[in-house]
Formats: sequence, C-alpha cells, structure tokens
Amino acid sequence: MTLPAAGTHGLAVRASTADVELAFDHLRHNNGVQPRYRTRQVVNWINLSTPLGLLVCLIGRAQLEQGEHGLLLARRYRFPLPPAPAFTLGNVILIRLDDEKLDRRPRLLVHEARHATQYAWCIGPVMLLLYALAAAWSWLLTGDPASRNVFERRAGLNDGGYKERPLRRVFQTSTNRRDD
Ligand SMILES: [Zn+2]
Repeated sequence: MTLPAAGTHGLAVRASTADVELAFDHLRHNNGVQPRYRTRQVVNWINLSTPLGLLVCLIGRAQLEQGEHGLLLARRYRFPLPPAPAFTLGNVILIRLDDEKLDRRPRLLVHEARHATQYAWCIGPVMLLLYALAAAWSWLLTGDPASRNVFERRAGLNDGGYKERPLRRVFQTSTNRRDD
C-alpha cells in the first residue's frame, strides 16, 4: 500500500523540480520575448509576484508550461481556492479549465496577461490588496466584484467572461440618472 503512494509522491517532487527549472530558465534566457514583455517578466520576479505564483502553482499541483510573451501557464490547477476558472499571480497564469474549455475561451489568456502587466505596475503583491479594495468598491456599487473593479475593467470584462452589472438602484438615482 505504501509503495505506490511513495512512488506518486516522488513523481510529484520530480515534476515540481522540473517546473522550478523551467521557471528559472525562463528568467535567465530572453527566448525571443519582446523588450516590454521581458521588462514585465523581470519586474514581476523582483517584486516577488511571480515567485508567489510559482509557490501557488506547487500548492495547487499545477503543471507549468511556457506561455507567450514571457508568461508561464500553470495548467490543471487543483486547489479549490480561488474558484475562478483562471487567475494570475505575477507572470504565472494559473488555469483550472481543461484544454477543451480553455480552447472555447481564447480571450481569457489575453485578459489574464493584462493582469500580469498590472502586477508590474502595482509593486507585485501590493496589487492583491489594491485588487481586494477595488473588488469591494465594485461590490458596493453593483453587487458584483468585477463590474466596477478597475483592474477587471482594464483587463477587459468581456475577455474575462464577466457580464457588467448596472449600478445599484440607490446609486443610479442619485449619481447616474443618465443611465436610466
Ligand atoms: Zn480578471
């Protein structure tokens, strides 16, 4: 009974080591990444958001792949939180969707890539705090954490699979009568 378990564990450790090697290789070599994306890549390593993404990749037992523009795709993410189909930490896009579902949403990675850029502008993990504030503000205004969330709006609500909700009635009547 213990032998298969030990074997499985060993396999997981080897896979994780390969993931770490891939991530470091990605940082060391340009691999044809355009200068602006290379800058994002290096900045998100320095501000620790990409290392945080790699840690969460390990916790979620996801498998790391090279993505476009210096991004890393953590596929088959399995940890139950957050429940989103995909989310981004630094240059790491963690993806819960299987290949078929991801193929049906080709704009989702474009949306997540914009979040990677936001991490570079927001001093890495500081963005998590700013994002939480923006989500709370959006929820207050609309009852939805994305509709008026500046990070989601700038990443593209449609591309992220969000439907924009109108302002709550109390705000419509007082500040936004034109939208009635
Ligand atoms: Zn998003």
